[in-house]
Amino acid sequence: MTTAAVESHTPRPASSALHPTGGFLTGFTHSLQTYIGCRFGCAYCYVQGSHVHRFFNGGLAWGDYAFPRQGVAERLAQELARFESKGQLGSLAIFCSSSTDPYQGAEREWQLTRRCLAVFVESPPALLVIQTRSPLIERDFDLLSALGERCWLSMTLETDRDDVRQALTPHCPSIARRVQTLRAARAAGLKVQVAVSPCLLYSAAESFGDLLLDLGERVVVDSYLSGDGQGGKRTARTTIPAEYVRLGWGAWQAEEAARSLYAWLRERMGESAGWSQAGFTHLARLNQGTGVAHPGNQSTSQQ
Ligand code: SF4
Repeated sequence: MTTAAVESHTPRPASSALHPTGGFLTGFTHSLQTYIGCRFGCAYCYVQGSHVHRFFNGGLAWGDYAFPRQGVAERLAQELARFESKGQLGSLAIFCSSSTDPYQGAEREWQLTRRCLAVFVESPPALLVIQTRSPLIERDFDLLSALGERCWLSMTLETDRDDVRQALTPHCPSIARRVQTLRAARAAGLKVQVAVSPCLLYSAAESFGDLLLDLGERVVVDSYLSGDGQGGKRTARTTIPAEYVRLGWGAWQAEEAARSLYAWLRERMGESAGWSQAGFTHLARLNQGTGVAHPGNQSTSQQ
């Protein structure tokens, strides 16, 4: 193992677990990150331009590190106990994660996300959304099941074309493997949302749409322009514009394909198909509809 490899997984003790959130995630009360950084290293990832990467990167490029937030589960237990003592546990809506993938490879060894799930089973929030693109989550279906209807698996599937996946996100799990995980999640009775985010080049609205109808109880679609939180400015600072030129894929800003797919799904799924921010926050807004007061939701931090 090289020195860089050791440094790329140096644990960073967690000083806290839950971060008040807002902005793109308005409606969720908190986000939870079990790692800092992400070894999936997607070309379009907006986190590479964020303060999280600038502050914590330790001299490493985006995609080259995943620092385990050591002790995050213990912090989470303490914080949930405080919410419980104030009678606020049932008002928490938590998104895990917004600036890392909680089931990237390091999770196999560190099990930080699994430990956090075990804490949630003991002290359940109103809503927990697990956002990942990794089949490793299959390991934890038992804990997701234990959380019941309050827990949603939101799995990223930006395209049905593996050549497109390989071009922009070569370190991510294959499309076929993710489809297999989504099918297993449905078979296990989990609540499943598919996030076509950002929508990349796909085969055809009918074939990709049919697949999505089969895989998810809900589907959220967005584009670089609508989904990066800054109208495409964050994406413009990544390698995506150059990659689209190199690959001959046309204008990276074009939204027509994403909009067509969304319209196709909306016709068949109604409100279970969502667009961009409204689609992602739909579950949290439903939770707010219960009329329970939300604690500490004032920050626009994406962390
Ligand atoms: S998996 Fe998510 S957090 Fe990780 S690099 Fe890709 S977009 Fe960013």
